[in-house]
Amino acid sequence: MVCRHLKTLSVQERQRLLSQISDYLLFRDAVNAFLSEHFENICTQKCYQSKISACCSRDGIITFFGDVLVNVLVSNGTEIKALARVLKNPNDGFKCIYLGDHGCMWRIKPIICEMFLCDPAEESVFKKKPMTNKLWLELKQREKHYRWPDRPVLFDDLEKYFMAEGYSSPLMYLNNSPGLLRVKELAKKSNHK
Ligand code: SF4
Repeated sequence: MVCRHLKTLSVQERQRLLSQISDYLLFRDAVNAFLSEHFENICTQKCYQSKISACCSRDGIITFFGDVLVNVLVSNGTEIKALARVLKNPNDGFKCIYLGDHGCMWRIKPIICEMFLCDPAEESVFKKKPMTNKLWLELKQREKHYRWPDRPVLFDDLEKYFMAEGYSSPLMYLNNSPGLLRVKELAKKSNHK
């Protein structure tokens, strides 16, 4: 759906969308740099090489519509085709279907996946380098500014942009999930006090 719609947009409109997500992409670069510096070794050794990849077999992974749109905007045709191809495979339910031979197949993986660290990894790194815990909490705080709707956030704007074009998707959680709608409602009330 996202690919189909993006194909109908003018170059200028596509550029506008890219500039709308540019700050978010910088944030993702910062998270990526942090994880590469402090967690890459432990995750590669303990989980990836052993093919456990436990974080990619959890039940609680959700993907937001904004995740899909951001990824499609920055991916090339070959990458998108590869994602579409695995979607057609039967899912044995053991690992996420997007976990390929070289790791996650998304160029910009879903935010929930990116911000997940398992307890053993956290314990091992944060204990040795307490400063990393503080940095991680700061990144978690920044993450909220893109997807937690107690204020205007990018992921909400991206959903609304597609809704205004007549699209709807079960991944539009910021406009459908009762929990997140309640967050919006409470934020509105507290702003009016
Ligand atoms: S989308 Fe990528 S990072 Fe997230 S669970 Fe699937 S393979 Fe893992």
